[in-house]
Amino acid sequence: MSRTDEYRTLSFWHDTVPGSLEPAASLDADTEADVAIVGAGLTGLWTAYYLNQADPNLRVVLCEREIAAFGASGRNGGWCSALFPASLAKLDRMAGREQAIAMYRAMQETVDEVGKVTAAEGIDCHWAKGGTVQFARSPSQLHRAKEEVAQARLYGFGETDLRLLSAARARELGGATDLLGGVFTPHCAAIHPARLARGLAAVLRGRGVMIYERTPVHRIEPGRLVTSGGIVRARHVIRATEGYTPALPGHERAVVPVYSLVIATEPLPESAWAQIGLETRPTFNDLRHLIIYGQRTADGRLVFGGRGAPYHFGSAVQPSFDRVPAVFAALRRTLIELFDVLGDVAITHAWGGPIGIARDWCASVGLDSSTGIGWAGGYVGDGLSTTNLAGRTLADLITGADSQITRLPWVGHRSPDWEPEPLRWLGVNVGLRMMTWADHTESRTGRPSRSAAALGRFIGS
Ligand SMILES: Cc1cc2nc3c(=O)[nH]c(=O)nc-3n(C[C@H](O)[C@H](O)[C@H](O)COP(=O)(O)OP(=O)(O)OC[C@H]3O[C@@H](n4cnc5c(N)ncnc54)[C@H](O)[C@@H]3O)c2cc1C
Repeated sequence: MSRTDEYRTLSFWHDTVPGSLEPAASLDADTEADVAIVGAGLTGLWTAYYLNQADPNLRVVLCEREIAAFGASGRNGGWCSALFPASLAKLDRMAGREQAIAMYRAMQETVDEVGKVTAAEGIDCHWAKGGTVQFARSPSQLHRAKEEVAQARLYGFGETDLRLLSAARARELGGATDLLGGVFTPHCAAIHPARLARGLAAVLRGRGVMIYERTPVHRIEPGRLVTSGGIVRARHVIRATEGYTPALPGHERAVVPVYSLVIATEPLPESAWAQIGLETRPTFNDLRHLIIYGQRTADGRLVFGGRGAPYHFGSAVQPSFDRVPAVFAALRRTLIELFDVLGDVAITHAWGGPIGIARDWCASVGLDSSTGIGWAGGYVGDGLSTTNLAGRTLADLITGADSQITRLPWVGHRSPDWEPEPLRWLGVNVGLRMMTWADHTESRTGRPSRSAAALGRFIGS
């Protein structure tokens, strides 16, 4: 199999992204730059993009172990949302009410920023800002829907940000089964993520930014990256490696890689869409504990993902972990349970990838001015748009621009390290099991399961 063919099998998105996936040139000699970035996912690409916007003369170099968009950025569920992994209440405790609100407003603006840039740069990422509908399909889910809206109201987020839906209004958006109501927010776009990330990489190359592919970085040190092809010397070096971070020396416990898995259906007939709806392509889920997420694609399929795959000892990340047949089967069952018109639908693609979870579930971005080392990550499963805010923030921190976004509460935040093994393995996997168990208990008894709250405390929120 050629390299291009290999990369095509990574996900439905890689299979359908236009252009060649043949790796570009690798680094083969020592070099110098102003900013050197490890990882050509969206964190690295957006950082390079905004640095280039700020000063086209800056020499920006990216070193990527595989190809641009190889990681989570090319394989995700395509929710370009305003979600941030730390809740408003948590950010309030961390940094105060005004800062918490500012963070959430910045995330909302970020969704539009991604839409604006992709339109301006001619990146056709199948952008559809149809919002998100969260279906409530049991009394406990309805209870959580009401709590979510009440929490948002406490911080001044009104009907235009988030609103409770009656069963009838929820059904107008999507014809899920057992509907009791739901929640709708307009702050989300459904996109084709590989088109976004590969498109951005092409824009950067067109502006002279070097993206070295098949160039693993072995060590990040102040002022330099040690790579397989040579040393890159730079005043600023940026770690943009998310779920792959624990493989870097000195960063073993910075995040845990937890796998999220996804399936794509065959294109569905009009008769099925007549029942499923989702006409404006809102992204969707229901309010169970274990995260699920779906979107109607531009070519008329459902792409549907969820967590539930095991965490691997020592924060290991391997291609074989991307595929767990039992989880794919469970996702298919859940999707058909949500939309029973799907009946015996064929699944054409199934894949997965690692997300990065910080010990306190709070994403962060920062630049250590003494070492020149910067980072961004810990987005949990909400990085598709957050990487854009991270890129803008890193560019401002590097160029010294005095901007509002550099004062947001996640800037400079340091999450604690995860526990050493075997505690980490035990804690994360027990946590994942408890979430599944809580959902089963709720659907059996119809009552909220207290184990989920216990879980939250256990793996730390
Ligand atoms: C299955 C799945 C579904 C998801 N769904 C959504 C969603 O719908 N919405 C949402 O907001 N978020 C979602 N996420 C999360 C989101 O995709 C990520 O948070 C985001 O893409 C992270 O971007 P990144 O650039 O930081 O990391 P990545 O995209 O993972 O990029 C990191 C890059 O660094 C490279 N790299 C790592 N180590 C090295 C090294 N030593 N040397 C050189 N290169 C290296 C990797 O090869 C990789 O290309 C999902 C994630 C997954 C896996």
